Amino acid sequence: MKFVSTRGGVEPKSFEDVILTGLAPDGGLFVPETLPRFSEEEIASWSSLSYQQLAFKVMTPFMADFMPLKDLQQLIEKSYGTFRHEEIAPLVNTGGNQWIMELFHGPTLAFKDFALQFLGNLLDYTLSKRQQKVVIMGATSGDTGSAAIEGCRRCENIDIFILHPHERVSDVQRRQMTTVRADNIHNIALQGNFDDCQNLVKASFSDQSFLPDGRQLVAVNSINWARIMAQIVYYFWASLRLGGPQKTVSFSVPTGNFGDIFAGYLASKMGLPIERLVIATNQNDILHRCLSRNDHRTLPLTESLAPSMDIMISSNFERLLFDLYDRDGAVISQLMKDAKAGSMMLSDKALTKARQLFASFRCDDQGMVDVIRNTYENTGYLLDPHTAIGLAAAKECSSGDQIPMITLATAHPAKFPDAVKRAGYPNDPELPEHMADLFEREERFTVLGNNASEVQKFIFGNLSR
Ligand SMILES: *Cc1c(COP(=O)(O)O)cnc(C)c1O
Repeated sequence: MKFVSTRGGVEPKSFEDVILTGLAPDGGLFVPETLPRFSEEEIASWSSLSYQQLAFKVMTPFMADFMPLKDLQQLIEKSYGTFRHEEIAPLVNTGGNQWIMELFHGPTLAFKDFALQFLGNLLDYTLSKRQQKVVIMGATSGDTGSAAIEGCRRCENIDIFILHPHERVSDVQRRQMTTVRADNIHNIALQGNFDDCQNLVKASFSDQSFLPDGRQLVAVNSINWARIMAQIVYYFWASLRLGGPQKTVSFSVPTGNFGDIFAGYLASKMGLPIERLVIATNQNDILHRCLSRNDHRTLPLTESLAPSMDIMISSNFERLLFDLYDRDGAVISQLMKDAKAGSMMLSDKALTKARQLFASFRCDDQGMVDVIRNTYENTGYLLDPHTAIGLAAAKECSSGDQIPMITLATAHPAKFPDAVKRAGYPNDPELPEHMADLFEREERFTVLGNNASEVQKFIFGNLSR
């Protein structure tokens, strides 16, 4: 299978090339040249498979020309062997035909483990074969950094440098990153905000001359195709638990960078009957404004109690636009220029197409806190703030109780004690057992100034041989 850029300016690339870079050289994102499609019969035959067996079926068409299938099977077993629930992604009913799919049973208690456990193993496998070492550099406002560190802590061919804004991430999130002890892991607390971290990472990707010969940077944010691919699996999983593919289902997805929900879109294109995909946003609602009234103006970012969704430009939205505009890279290049300059307008045709599958809803901090409180009082189930926004959107955009509505629970409530306490929950929500001693573990991180050459010097000086 080959991959093309959403901006149309790059020769088709192999899977291996795509996972070892970040953006395409023309600034676009890689997408498969063609998508595999499964028949209803074939999907139905998967109904009694384990999560790992299902992942193997869904990922095989993307990977079959890249690695022997028994190696793929091993990678999958290894990646989901670290999860602490035997169903990996269990479904919980919260009344009527409303469901929650818990995606927080991985090592760092957020759905990003689904992709990053797999990506870490995949990179290590590929790099050992090539006898190559790479450097992962990434910026995080919380969940991505810890999931990437957990995914790569045992990878011999990877040095990983994660920048977080100094004193601006929650204690739980910081400690999840800084208490992992491994020589290849380096946490940098940057004296700046998240945007500063991100800008510094971007600048380093575009000029990598600070690295020694033979080393390159690899991106592990959701522009990396392998992350999206691993996330397609749980849409099939949830549908099969609730009578699919014979019955159709809907999903509500707490959305930031549009990676998670884009995987749901791909599942639908690959043959899974999906009635609706609901884009749930917090007060940083550019995607909701865009879909509901063609308003894609970039407004100032505000800090919410659901920080993993505090994003203005959602990079993976470009992947959807590419399809909405019949894969015309020139049009996408222009749209992205407009978006960067402050505003883009979609054509009526593109919007109409998007609305056939997608709906959207915005829920601010107050609305979110109310949902956590009401859900806890009525059902005893404690939501994290991101999931609560998903649930609010699910209720608003449900097309009747005939069709199961599945909200993706993207994080465990213990990661976000402030929001949960704001909703009237009396204590800090309890961390799962394997993390109960998180606050006793020793932390390791380096504070650096908001200065590219200082950070790059640090990286150069800390590479493994
Ligand atoms: C990353 C994250 C999101 C947003 O996911 P995207 O793929 O960026 O849309 C939502 N909730 C939580 C808890 C996250 O960590």
